[in-house]
Amino acid sequence: MEKLVKTQLDYFNTNVTKSVSFRIGQLNKLYALLESNERLLEEAIYRDYGKSPFETFQTEFAAVFEEIKVAVRDLEQWAAVKPVATNSRNEPATSYLIPEPLGVSLVIGPWNYPYQLSLAPVVAAIAAGCTVILKPSELTANCSAVMAKLVNENFEEQYFHVVEGGIAETTALLDQKFDIIFFTGSVPVGKIIYQAAAKNLTPVVLELGGKSPVIIMPDCDLDISVRRLVWAKYLNSGQTCISPDYVYVHQSIEEKFLQKVAEEIKKADYKLENGNFVRIINERNTDRVSGLINPAKIYTGGNYDIDARFIEPTVLHQVTWDDKVMKDEIFGPIMAVMTFEDLDKVIKEIKDRPKPLALYLFTQDENVKKKVLGEISFGGGCVNEAIMHIANGNLPFGGVGASGLGNYHGEAGFRAFSHYKGILDKALVEDPDIKYSPHTEEKLQRMKAAAK
Ligand code: NAD
Repeated sequence: MEKLVKTQLDYFNTNVTKSVSFRIGQLNKLYALLESNERLLEEAIYRDYGKSPFETFQTEFAAVFEEIKVAVRDLEQWAAVKPVATNSRNEPATSYLIPEPLGVSLVIGPWNYPYQLSLAPVVAAIAAGCTVILKPSELTANCSAVMAKLVNENFEEQYFHVVEGGIAETTALLDQKFDIIFFTGSVPVGKIIYQAAAKNLTPVVLELGGKSPVIIMPDCDLDISVRRLVWAKYLNSGQTCISPDYVYVHQSIEEKFLQKVAEEIKKADYKLENGNFVRIINERNTDRVSGLINPAKIYTGGNYDIDARFIEPTVLHQVTWDDKVMKDEIFGPIMAVMTFEDLDKVIKEIKDRPKPLALYLFTQDENVKKKVLGEISFGGGCVNEAIMHIANGNLPFGGVGASGLGNYHGEAGFRAFSHYKGILDKALVEDPDIKYSPHTEEKLQRMKAAAK
């Protein structure tokens, strides 16, 4: 690990990665590599957790391809020197910001979207001009192996390299000094990463998780809302960081809402055999998630098969904060439904807990939108939609508080891997003597008059 990081640092110091045309070349190379190996990548993810080519394209490749295309299109402009105003004390001068790559980067990926969440940060790192070491999740072992093979056979180790492994390998990597660490994963491991980074004062981006709430107001378009919500909830079997975790539905429409959710689940025909559904990542998680199902509260679903790593799309109703399902992020195909009468109480209950990564509000009332979006702090979210804010690269994606630190996608990703160096470029004219010694009362008065 030490040698690898040193090799990348030496390479970074040659300044090769700083040229915009070099970066665009590497981005195009990555695009072509992924495109020409789509089949191989699809097979690997299917072996890992039964994800179909349809869902793999929709939720993995589409995002990575778009990130690359936007970066290639806009990189010249992102990397350009940015002029800023000069204040009167410094005139005559010009002032500007020079975006510079932070240096050697470490990207640590999770298993739940093994391609998108490993490669989208890599795209941002390459765009910014960093070198990259990628450590994918060991839980999606086939995806990790295929990424290692493709990257390590096609990119030079000194520039972009995949290191495979689990806790031991990640710990060994974290013993090295990086210029930035980009981590996607759970809150507890996020804390380990942050502590390791602190030893070297390494900046971090932490893309973490948590419980993301949904609020269904009585004035919402219930058909459209339920369709979008059910799709979002059961996508990837609920193993999505921004999955709608629990739902507050207004008491007056609870029954209608639940009925429509059950109908929509039926219509979607979620089965492993037809590729409309994916497996839970491993037996341990199947056991954990199925253990959250309280039989007394099942509205629909509730069946599971630990050996097959399958949990039926499940809706629990009459849920309260005392239920087990409300203690931690669900990260599985269970929708926990609670009712409410008073929106202020809902807002308070959400605000009493860690800041969510996402929030979804279903309403047509502009005042309600303004109130909820203005009063609750959360990473990002949607109105009358769920999950899809992640698919708009113009919206920086990330958490706040316990759900994460920093953000990425599009130019935000470029910024995450860059430092903006501020420069004052002074004109060669004679200075007013006020700045210089000897200090006099008269100079002090002039300085005060100018500054106050
Ligand atoms: P995880 O934290 O268990 O693992 C993430 C990565 O950290 C893996 O590469 C793993 O090998 C490594 N790791 C695990 N334990 C470690 C340790 N003790 N020391 C060093 N490295 C270690 O997360 P996961 O199970 O892969 O993903 C699920 C979590 O990630 C959920 O909480 C989810 O909400 C969150 N998540 C967040 C986002 C986001 O963009 N904010 C996206 C996906 C997932």
